[in-house]
Amino acid sequence: RPPSPARARNPAADHDGAADLCRVRVAVRIRPKNSDELAQGADFDTCVELQPECKKLKLKKNNWASESYQFDEIFTENASQKRIYQVVAKPVVESVLEGYNGTVMAYGQTGTGKTYTVGQLGKEDPSERGIMVRALEHILSSISLETDSVSVSYLQLYLESVQDLLAPEKTNIPIVEDPKSGEVSLPGAAIVEIKDLEHVFQLLQIGETNRHAANTKMNTESSRSHAILIIYVQRSVRLKEEESTSTYPSVPEHIIPDDLPLVLKSKLLIVDLAGSERIDKSGSEGHMIEEAKFINLSLSSLGKCINALAENSSHIPTRDSKLTRMLRDSFGGTARTSLVVTVGPSVRHYSETSSTILFGQRAMKIVNTIRLKEE
Ligand code: ADP
Repeated sequence: RPPSPARARNPAADHDGAADLCRVRVAVRIRPKNSDELAQGADFDTCVELQPECKKLKLKKNNWASESYQFDEIFTENASQKRIYQVVAKPVVESVLEGYNGTVMAYGQTGTGKTYTVGQLGKEDPSERGIMVRALEHILSSISLETDSVSVSYLQLYLESVQDLLAPEKTNIPIVEDPKSGEVSLPGAAIVEIKDLEHVFQLLQIGETNRHAANTKMNTESSRSHAILIIYVQRSVRLKEEESTSTYPSVPEHIIPDDLPLVLKSKLLIVDLAGSERIDKSGSEGHMIEEAKFINLSLSSLGKCINALAENSSHIPTRDSKLTRMLRDSFGGTARTSLVVTVGPSVRHYSETSSTILFGQRAMKIVNTIRLKEE
């Protein structure tokens, strides 16, 4: 069998400026003022100064302002959901349709718009639709359901336990990595084949309801868990002649390329991360201390992997948390990754906003030209 194209070659490497194409794209989105912030009227003070035309921003507090931080895109409070999709997610979805894995993540303090950006359904109002719905709409319109398929799993990661949001009785789902291919799988998790957009709404709604129910039962909030939608795409393609041997070296030469149907399998992870705010362990009790410990663990482990990738390190510490273990084959290497960091506008959250911006700055440096190496 020919090797999976996800391992065989990277489309971006075919072009000049490959490194830039492969780099993790990082966008910042600022939430519009909420009712509390609007009520502050002239007293409202902000801690970010956006320079969207040059894709930069400064942090500011009182009379001080930081240096300008460069990002791939700065979305002002007026940015539409459609534009966010086009800039942040569409290139990743296009590469998934070509057979590569990909990840789109939202990172930020609770209340800054992660779920709105990623998970908003917008069933009645299409302009409101978030990245999950738009990605599935895009994939459905790009494949032929006669020969291809698109399926989803929808999971929640809470206290280092993987729960199935489509089959809530399934908890503690293992994360298994194939030692040869490095492929990550979740045996036992429901994988549901999608038929149409109506089906997408149904499944995402079921996931949302189960997430809410699970969190109420555990006496916690959704912002304490990571929600992960995995979209599996399988497509039948026929190779072009010039691609046959150079791209897939294990294909025997006597096979006539036009006669070689190839099944491309790829996946896209769309991740609504738990709130990035530092949780004060003092003064918290019981399960809150556990939550704090695990969220800090997974987000700091994500940060460490980002740093290691940015530094081109041969050791990427993906085994430190379940979050990074799940991302292992879809983040770095030939996988395309986009990160939206969401911030609120108020100076009252200066310290969370600045740590979110600095997290995004670190991620800007990742170049996805290396495979994650075995530890
Ligand atoms: P998070 O997931 O980061 O905790 P939410 O997505 O729940 O935050 O957003 C908090 C509130 O702000 C929600 O009521 C959401 O609808 C609203 N909101 C967030 N971003 C936007 C936006 N860009 N435009 C309009 N409303 C937004």
